[in-house]
Amino acid sequence: MRQSLSLGALVFLLPLATVLSGCSSGTQTSPMIQKESVTQLPDGTPIDLYTLRNTNGMEARITNYGGIVVSLTAPDRNGAYEDVVLGFDDVEQYMGPHPYFGAIVGRYGNRIANGRFTLNGETYALAQNNGENALHGGRNGFDKAVWQAEPVTTDEGQALRLTYLSPDGEEGYPGNLSVAVTYTLTDDDALRIDYEATTDKATPVNLTNHSYFNLAGQGAGTILDHQIQINADRFTPVDGGLIPTGELRPVSDTPFDFRQPAAIGLRIEDSDEQIAFGGGYDHNFVLNGEAGEMKLAARVYEPTSGRVMEVHTTEPGVQFYTGNFLNGDITGKGGTAYGRRYGFCLETQHFPDSPNKPDFPDTILEPGERYTSTTIYRFSAE
Ligand code: BGC
Repeated sequence: MRQSLSLGALVFLLPLATVLSGCSSGTQTSPMIQKESVTQLPDGTPIDLYTLRNTNGMEARITNYGGIVVSLTAPDRNGAYEDVVLGFDDVEQYMGPHPYFGAIVGRYGNRIANGRFTLNGETYALAQNNGENALHGGRNGFDKAVWQAEPVTTDEGQALRLTYLSPDGEEGYPGNLSVAVTYTLTDDDALRIDYEATTDKATPVNLTNHSYFNLAGQGAGTILDHQIQINADRFTPVDGGLIPTGELRPVSDTPFDFRQPAAIGLRIEDSDEQIAFGGGYDHNFVLNGEAGEMKLAARVYEPTSGRVMEVHTTEPGVQFYTGNFLNGDITGKGGTAYGRRYGFCLETQHFPDSPNKPDFPDTILEPGERYTSTTIYRFSAE
């Protein structure tokens, strides 16, 4: 069973910095992955923070609590590194309420209508944690799980392999699901995320990462001036509860047409019913290209810094969410209150509510099969 986290009961340790060799053989001179002990659960389960660095100077800090990307630096056009993801200074703060900053989301990222689906004749009831719908794996989704972490060094760069066993019935989902998520900070300035899962009973699986980006630097204000291009001819329109209607609607002549780069803010206040339902962009785009094949999902450019982020994925969709529900209530890194649209998410995924939408690409993982998914966030500047 998952460890239940009671903040009051947590034993806080003095931060203890240790350095782990990223390679198993003592003879290799591979760079070191730094490990810092943050705290531990009453039963001794450690909550740690790992720092991955690449050969160019990029740095990613990741905790085994929720598999959260705590910080990620990227260079601007003058080579100045800045943290480009929203979040908190202290890892303990992620144990309180927050909108999935940097977290691994599962077992099913995005919404399942009414928190119900039927599989092989059986109806499963999930927690209704978003109005009547289930969102992002439930009340205690993978974003709150404590993962086993193993630092590894690959040919591409430093990596952190996180594993978690989600027990049969957890949050209402069938089957023991064995999950592995590997973050690699590559030496060509990308954060690569490889997801894998196997199960002993048929179950829906849809894994993603929920980082909020601001390429001007986290806390720099709204993301409305970022230019975004999304490689999608269609999107999945939603109802008022943000559940897809089932239609794959062409983006042409809508505020959802990002086939050519456009400022995020250009049409975000349009009098369009879909924009109104999302309070801005909070929609799944149907990516052009083959599901299962690596393809460009989106490219984002921030004009003041020159930073560029390209997202490539094997997934058929991406949720473009413009932080519409941020309202200044959360004080993040450096004491900045995160206001509306201070960050954007590009959550690579299968389409929302697929377990209830037979015409959408299938999200059911069967025993004997292996779920795999890869997403690459690559950074550059111009
Ligand atoms: C959803 C939003 C939600 C946000 C934070 C996004 O993936 O699409 O509707 O508010 O996550 O939970």
